[in-house]
Amino acid sequence: MKVDVLTLFPEMFEGVFGTSILGKAREKGIVALQAVNFRNYAGNKHGQVDDTPYGGGGGMVLKPDPIFAAVEDLLENDTAVRPRVILMCPQGETFTQKKAEELSREEHLIFICGHYEGYDERIRQHLVTDELSIGDYVLTGGELPAMVAIDSVVRLLPGVLGNETSAVTDSFSTGLLEYPHYTRPADFRGHQVPDVLLSGHHSNIEAWRRQESLRRTFERRPDLLKHADLTVKERQWLKSLEEQSAQRVTD
Ligand code: SAM
Repeated sequence: MKVDVLTLFPEMFEGVFGTSILGKAREKGIVALQAVNFRNYAGNKHGQVDDTPYGGGGGMVLKPDPIFAAVEDLLENDTAVRPRVILMCPQGETFTQKKAEELSREEHLIFICGHYEGYDERIRQHLVTDELSIGDYVLTGGELPAMVAIDSVVRLLPGVLGNETSAVTDSFSTGLLEYPHYTRPADFRGHQVPDVLLSGHHSNIEAWRRQESLRRTFERRPDLLKHADLTVKERQWLKSLEEQSAQRVTD
């Protein structure tokens, strides 16, 4: 996969692209990560990439020409595939694990990071294929949101995580939240690890994990259960949990 990020602050990506799992994925040649300063495409001697808004008002707006020119330059070297051009934007579609999975099947992603008040609307209308938000809050720029999205996409690429199954059982990948984890010591300040995990009985451990995953999702994110793939027995068990918690409220 090729990932290009258009930003005014490419230095922000140095640590993230060179460290830990992303750094190793890059070393192994699984992903090519590049941060490009779109100020290099300003086309004027002052390197001006923003301007005041038509109609007045506060804040500066990113001009369309440098961003179009930067994307077109990237496309010139990549005629084989049509990349996804992704605008990081608080007004965009909320980024989810499902979206990360969808993007992980692409060959080339281009992320555009805004700054200041916003972008000229023609970037949104005539250049981008997707608009992504990482949540209902506003940051100073699109760099942190782009890092969040890139990290979650790259870790899904085959060969990036040491243990291929670890992404498969992650929260949201299964439609549920993940079960709790424990490691040594078995007794920490009097708090014990559940016996089943020490039993070495694999099918019992699997059953316990599935049940705890369901319990956790029921307690923290019941909205996810609506679309989860559940057996009749699991649905019945969840119903009994629901009845117990309703009973506790009336008691
Ligand atoms: N005036 C804009 C609005 O109200 O929608 C907010 C602009 S924000 C200060 C500057 C840039 O940060 C945005 O263009 C976008 O690239 C990025 N950004 C801020 N919050 C974000 C979020 N929740 N998700 C994705 N990008 C975000």
